[in-house]
Amino acid sequence: MRILLVEDEEGLVITLSDRLRSEGFDVVSASDGASGFQKACDERFDLIVLDVMLPKKNGYDVCRDLRQKGVSTPVLMLTAKGETIDKVLGLKLGADDYLTKPFEMIELLARVEALLRRSPANAANGNGASAEAYRFGSVSVDFKRAEVRKDDSPVELSAMEFKLLQFLIENRGHVHSRDHLLDEVWGYDAMPSTRTVDVHIAWLRQKLEENPKHPHFIQTVHGLGYKFAA
Ligand code: CA
Repeated sequence: MRILLVEDEEGLVITLSDRLRSEGFDVVSASDGASGFQKACDERFDLIVLDVMLPKKNGYDVCRDLRQKGVSTPVLMLTAKGETIDKVLGLKLGADDYLTKPFEMIELLARVEALLRRSPANAANGNGASAEAYRFGSVSVDFKRAEVRKDDSPVELSAMEFKLLQFLIENRGHVHSRDHLLDEVWGYDAMPSTRTVDVHIAWLRQKLEENPKHPHFIQTVHGLGYKFAA
């Protein structure tokens, strides 16, 4: 998944990019509003993290102009402390959520993941014929709400874990190589290695399988990849 980061504080750009990349995202940055706007128009992103106070064009104008151009990519706005009224303005201009600086990285990641899950573009991902819900074992998956429950208790999945699970379920019974999963779930130009797939599979098993060491649903097909038991 690709994130456009529009931010002029170099230190923050480095910290945020590093962290988002380590989570498996592909990050492109722009250091002023005008170039951020241009990139958001020219390329496809899954999410835009947009600072308000920017050189050349402020975040509000960028957001408003993007919406006017029909760019519906989710926008997470970064506002400075005390800009309470401006947050309302940001949401009116088409931002999807906002975060006040300074923020904890974990908080930013939570907002990013929530927005990616809410995004209709992601919900509609796949073949378009996806079911709205799916049950396996004691787990139920609500694709529309991007919610997973196990034994009736909510399970917290990251956006990537959810996307991976959804892909496996929608294509259950088929074996998928790690490279194929990287292409389908992380995106054609994503940087993470096939090891990333293994790690996410392990997390999904940990959270969803009765016995993660002997998974019943998320199966390894030795030498080939993974499949969701049909
Ligand atoms: Ca700034």
